[in-house]
Amino acid sequence: MVTAEEKEAAKMIIALAGNPNSGKTTLFNSLTGSRQHVGNWPGVTVEKKEGQMIYQGETLKIIDLPGTYSLGAYSEDELVARNFLLEEKPDVVIDVVDATNLERNLYLTVQLLEMGANVVIALNMIDEAEGKKIKIDIEKLSNILGIPVIPTIATRNKGIDELIEKAVKTGNSKQKNQFKIDYGEDMEEQLQKLIKLIAEIPELEKYPQRWLALALMEGDERVEEILPKGVKTEKLLTQRNESVKQLENKIGEDAETIIIERRYGFAGGIAKETVTRRHDVEDRLSMSDKIDNIVTNRYLGIPIFLIVMWAVFQFTFTIGDPLIGYIELFFEWLGALMGEVITNETLNSLIVDGIIGGLGSVIVFIPPIFLLFFAISLLEDSGYMARAAYIMDRFMHTLGLHGKSFIPMLIGFGCNVPAIMATRTLDNKKDRLITILINPLMSCSARLPVYVLFAGALFGANQGLVIFSLYLLGIVLAIVMGVIFKKTLFKGETSYLIMELPPYRMPTVKSTLIHMWERGSSFVKKAGTIIFAAVILIWVLANLPVGVEYASEESLIGKLGNLIAPIFAPAGFGNWQAASALVFGLLAKEVIVGTLAVVYGAGEAELGSIISSYWTPLSAYAFMVMTLIYVPCVATIGAIKRETNSWGWTGFAVGYTLVLGWVMAVLVFQVGSLLGLG
Ligand code: GDP
Ligand code: MG
Repeated sequence: MVTAEEKEAAKMIIALAGNPNSGKTTLFNSLTGSRQHVGNWPGVTVEKKEGQMIYQGETLKIIDLPGTYSLGAYSEDELVARNFLLEEKPDVVIDVVDATNLERNLYLTVQLLEMGANVVIALNMIDEAEGKKIKIDIEKLSNILGIPVIPTIATRNKGIDELIEKAVKTGNSKQKNQFKIDYGEDMEEQLQKLIKLIAEIPELEKYPQRWLALALMEGDERVEEILPKGVKTEKLLTQRNESVKQLENKIGEDAETIIIERRYGFAGGIAKETVTRRHDVEDRLSMSDKIDNIVTNRYLGIPIFLIVMWAVFQFTFTIGDPLIGYIELFFEWLGALMGEVITNETLNSLIVDGIIGGLGSVIVFIPPIFLLFFAISLLEDSGYMARAAYIMDRFMHTLGLHGKSFIPMLIGFGCNVPAIMATRTLDNKKDRLITILINPLMSCSARLPVYVLFAGALFGANQGLVIFSLYLLGIVLAIVMGVIFKKTLFKGETSYLIMELPPYRMPTVKSTLIHMWERGSSFVKKAGTIIFAAVILIWVLANLPVGVEYASEESLIGKLGNLIAPIFAPAGFGNWQAASALVFGLLAKEVIVGTLAVVYGAGEAELGSIISSYWTPLSAYAFMVMTLIYVPCVATIGAIKRETNSWGWTGFAVGYTLVLGWVMAVLVFQVGSLLGLG
């Protein structure tokens, strides 16, 4: 991870560790300023942030480790953080601790210390702690742990100078930390036996012995992987098995539980010793708690969530619609201009019909997509999204699904690819597979242009509601399919999501805009690459064989569409235009709109009115349902293959979504027709 050269160049390597939301990234940014870069950890897709700072003329290298609550081996994030600590041995670890939540944060601190790291605590968010009348005896905390504790407010650069000074001092001192938790007589007896055997294996010299012994007692399989093959290791493992058994016989608890309980007990004990709350406020509820009493209420929680999501879509389209209009006008003008300027007929058609018509029809959806992400970022930064996940956890749990599934599902609203990667936070393989399989049902932003086009053309003032209903349908189907998979393919227990709700915060304009851009810019990039290429491909197919009328039924794309169209007749859109759009939509769902622009021979501005003359609201709705559900795009299929590492499950995901999409579209159209909605 850190090359020898880099180690040479930097005088000292400082790692930032801490729970998610403790302020690590804020601290990292204020330490490194602009001298930073972001990449991925080797071999995994967990984000790797590194930067530098100059302190007293020396270069310090700063590494932002993934935020974790623990250093077990249960998620990629945890593994990345702990492997870095074990293998790279940073000179000092700054443990960013959220002062408003000392007990939970100290659980990680304890593990850092047990791994033998040289730790300095940044006791962050001290301003919020004060606001909540939480008082922490910093000196006492520092004494109990035997390490420096520096109060900080990362957002306002408070305490940073002292922090870095203490960190460098700790990094330079040759002292090893002497931290030790007493695990009780019986456990200690077994640990000593293991430590003795560990000491006999030279390859293990570089690892902290007591930590290794504890990890082995916990049954940590990833640690067993680092043991060298050989007789000594076999002896060690035999002793471990023996020790675990003895301990269980004696205490009646398994070793892992004992270790975890002791660590929590220790963290809780320190918190009790050092934290005082003023009594007059303790009994009164904070503003956050008052809001939470309503927002996460057993009965009101889900309705409120739905209202919030509905408001998001109203916002997106009320403001987005006029903006779409302006961009349309621009492309219309550009198309007319190019039409006059370019005299070569083929080139003219490529530019005007193909690129401006096809790509333009997708680009006009930039405003609603950015507005949607703006709204979602706002909800996330304010702390509401965490409540949504919390409410959904309770709900999902009653269905036997894991609450952590909901977070990848929320991410899926943006794009299913990172969402499927985010399932790595699920510890249990079965829960994870279910979450991957249902994720494509979450309506990603690429589907939005299709909805906006059809809903705008056929549902007028109700378009926000119609689009909201599609998102909702996606969620409901995801949950239904999840339950079905759980009951049939993956039977078993589901664990609870332990999630601390972060306090509500007033989101800043800057961070909301940054988050909006981070998410939205991928759409722009996609428009410039894959969608651009697809549009040209479609234009070519619309012109072949040579001499055919452009985008007519006789062109290749028309023939292809006609071949497939009969399948969709029962769903109300058995025309060749729709069929070919669905085929090319496999590349990326936005391409559906681009294809329609080409095959209807329409400039972006007329597309809506052409659609409204060929389609009925019912067939349009069935088509949108199909777009929502049928086969995820190629990028998502790729992500499913990577994350499941199985062509079987990938094929299953493609197959079931295709069938489900068709069935649902047919159902919508047939039932709608029966009800006289056609
Ligand atoms: P990370 O998940 O640990 O990287 O946390 P971030 O750096 O993203 O911070 C989470 C949130 O806490 C952000 O909204 C920060 O602006 C805020 N934050 C960070 N440090 C402080 C602090 O010292 N005081 C207050 N009030 N907010 C902070
Ligand atoms: Mg961060």
